[in-house]
Amino acid sequence: MSGMFHAPVMQELMEQFGKLPGIGPKTAQRLAFYVLSLPKNDVRAFADAMVKAKDTMTYCPICFSLTDVTPCQVCRDESRQRQVVCVVEETTDVFSIERARDYRGLYHVLQGSISPMEGRQPEDLRIKELMARVAEGEIKEVIIATNPDVEGETTALYLAKLLKPFGVKVTRIAHGIPVGSNLEHADAATLAQALEGRREMGE
Ligand code: ZN
Repeated sequence: MSGMFHAPVMQELMEQFGKLPGIGPKTAQRLAFYVLSLPKNDVRAFADAMVKAKDTMTYCPICFSLTDVTPCQVCRDESRQRQVVCVVEETTDVFSIERARDYRGLYHVLQGSISPMEGRQPEDLRIKELMARVAEGEIKEVIIATNPDVEGETTALYLAKLLKPFGVKVTRIAHGIPVGSNLEHADAATLAQALEGRREMGE
């Protein structure tokens, strides 16, 4: 092999695409060549959009979702029910539930799930911050909407135990979502049903 396949700039571009989730070497190569086929302005707009998003987005100091305003749109919305908090793993889960439109409470983003296998401990998540919010006393129900996989269930049980002394209602979303999948891929109707069918934990 010779020529452009060894061009360091192309190798570099492929390597960068290869770092993205779900992108193998072949797709990375296809994307790198696709970028080259675009008009220069489009390439610049693409790169700028990434840098701008990274520079602008920050974590909401209340719910820890990614946001461009602080507090985030949900936390600052006076019309939301402030007695209900839905606990999710990632900001993308907030987007999924918001798309389902039925939910009018607040959120708390853990920024992950407990996974001893991958070295993620409770103290690596925004659990302290959740407990502090609940301790304030306004919250009456905590809906645990972590993913229906091993890590998500472990996290749900752990939270239910921690929340028990606070005397709040702790519910878990129903299993409309296939086990082992995640919230991000569930359609809006399934998510709405899962929330609607939530059950109280720890009985
Ligand atoms: Zn927020």
